[in-house]
Amino acid sequence: MPSPTSYTAVITSEAIQKLKLLCHQELPREACGLIACRIDDSERVASAILPMNNTHPEPEHHFKFDPAEWVRTLFHLSQSRYSLTGFYHSHPSGPPFPSNEDLTHPLWSSSVSVKEPFSGAEGLQMLQMWIVSLADPATTEISVFTSSSNGMRRLVLTEISV
Ligand SMILES: [Zn+2]
Repeated sequence: MPSPTSYTAVITSEAIQKLKLLCHQELPREACGLIACRIDDSERVASAILPMNNTHPEPEHHFKFDPAEWVRTLFHLSQSRYSLTGFYHSHPSGPPFPSNEDLTHPLWSSSVSVKEPFSGAEGLQMLQMWIVSLADPATTEISVFTSSSNGMRRLVLTEISV
């Protein structure tokens, strides 16, 4: 029986505001970046948003991280005692669901090493894919997915104020 946390994605209201703002600022290009939590947070609440350059030649319809920036940012994360929980990108005019390209994205099958909160044992947790849809100018829709043994699973997104 997996723990309930594997079905939810939790983010601070401050982080979700920053995420929405960054995605709007990048229009008409797709925004992309990393999402992280404090390394000692057993609930793994997303509290840091780290924008990355979209290096894809057609950034209006695709996104691509710069490998060197990816490595630098991961190093910076661990130095500041943060741990990667997932990555995000925006769909400037599409729905908040993974495209066929997203489904085969190599990041999709990445996992991170996570310490179990109580036992202290190391476990692997799949990274979350956050998709921010800006298709409707009235609302910014965000959905979060992770891969599971049964394929893609949508997580319940919960926002908390801290
Ligand atoms: Zn996409």
